[in-house]
Amino acid sequence: MSAPAGAWEVVIGLEVHAQLRTRSKMFCRCSTAFGAPPNSQTCPVCLGLPGVLPVVNRRAVEYAVRTALALGGRVNARCRFARKHYYYPDMPKNFQISQYEEPLAEDAALEIDGPDGAPRRIGIQRLHLEEDVGKLVHEGTLETAAASLVDYNRSGVPLMETVTRPDLRSPEEAAAWLRAFRAVLLYLGVCDGNMEEGSLRCDANVSLRRAGTDPLGTKVEIKNLNSFRNVQRALEFEVRRQAQALDAGERLVQETRLWDADRAATRSMRSKEFAHDYRYFPEPDLPPLDLDPAWLAAIRGDLPELPRARRQRFVEQYGLPAYDADLLTQSRALAEYYETAVRAHANPKALSNWIMSELLRELPGDDEAALARCPVPPAHLAALVRLIDEATISGKIAKDVLVTMLRTGEPPTLIVEREGLVQVADAGALAVLVDEAIAANPRAVEDFRRGKAAAAKALVGAVMKASRGKANPAIVDRLVQEKLSRG
Ligand code: ADP
Ligand code: ZN
Ligand code: MG
Repeated sequence: MSAPAGAWEVVIGLEVHAQLRTRSKMFCRCSTAFGAPPNSQTCPVCLGLPGVLPVVNRRAVEYAVRTALALGGRVNARCRFARKHYYYPDMPKNFQISQYEEPLAEDAALEIDGPDGAPRRIGIQRLHLEEDVGKLVHEGTLETAAASLVDYNRSGVPLMETVTRPDLRSPEEAAAWLRAFRAVLLYLGVCDGNMEEGSLRCDANVSLRRAGTDPLGTKVEIKNLNSFRNVQRALEFEVRRQAQALDAGERLVQETRLWDADRAATRSMRSKEFAHDYRYFPEPDLPPLDLDPAWLAAIRGDLPELPRARRQRFVEQYGLPAYDADLLTQSRALAEYYETAVRAHANPKALSNWIMSELLRELPGDDEAALARCPVPPAHLAALVRLIDEATISGKIAKDVLVTMLRTGEPPTLIVEREGLVQVADAGALAVLVDEAIAANPRAVEDFRRGKAAAAKALVGAVMKASRGKANPAIVDRLVQEKLSRG
């Protein structure tokens, strides 16, 4: 008998590698810029030539400390680098400088919303620094390539590894946590979060256990997850695979599996018997890292407001619905954009609506770069909403104005003036249009007199059309009502 669906509890822990946004590498002065010609950003240190000495990048340490403190972690007064040994052509030293027994920080956490909306605290075991390896480039596919090339530009690039506790309970939650973590890194400015370029990479560990039991089941580690979608899909596949095996009475083996996005399946890479013994030992070329408490305090004092806190504040300060606040605080750049606009014109909900429904649709993204290139600065959007609020233009005309703003980068006032879009609020002028509409629509007038109040709407619509959207609808409505009932 197989166990009913839902009898298994899903247990997931993530290991995330984030490339730190430093200009130079972890232990040498080579550039970290992405996309340079192969092997143009290398030196004896990051090529692993003998006789060279690594020097720790202070900025990389600062960024990792910043992240650890922002997530409430304990930053160790002293940490140490260690050599992690294995052989692979993308790693010329045959060891990677990482941290092992004495990591930079431990016991942090990042909250997300649970399935019922209540906050869920996901623990972070440790957070440490290490260096990246080079990149193998195969001609065609790995299976058919006659040759493979190595690009060492990435060798020695600073990475921060963050290891969560096995606190995540579904593939969806794992993807949500990774999104939240990425948002924090972007807010802190320590990583560009670009998953396609490999700035953020994730391995996922997953096991199942009988619901309500304590001991963890045998875990599988999935590698090669380069998007939120793939994290979720790979975990969903793996949960199904493990549940089927366990239901069939099989025993799972602890192993590392690779996600194959094309086949939408994981496949075994190595089992525990073949697990690496990395022969870690302390890096003899680097002294232990003693972190000055005053420096830590300065970094702590300089932490920005984080996404969840900002979301909460947006709800309280601007009276926004949680949905709006969530969307507007996804990226720090977007949140700044929004707040700058609200400072220029205090209509928080209208500005939120315009950003969510009109502006974001036209932009390639909500990140710093996309917003910096946006032809409509926050002050212009604020001015547009003010024109509506002051009844200078209608909301409908405003949409057309925004199209022009996006194309030309001009302020809305200029466009409205040039194109003569100012709303007609002059009752005398509007009365003429109303009379014309009444004369042209005897049916509507008759319907109204027979008690069909909605018939007035048709007349208002006719006036709006005749004015090409420029008539003030509230005044037109009042005039129509007056004239019809006077009739
Ligand atoms: P390893 O020694 O294999 O590296 P760790 O204990 O260091 O294992 O954990 C690595 C990651 O795997 C962490 O994110 C942790 O939360 C997660 N993890 C550990 N045990 C399990 C388990 N039984 N099921 C799911 N995830 C697990
Ligand atoms: Zn170098
Ligand atoms: Mg481990």
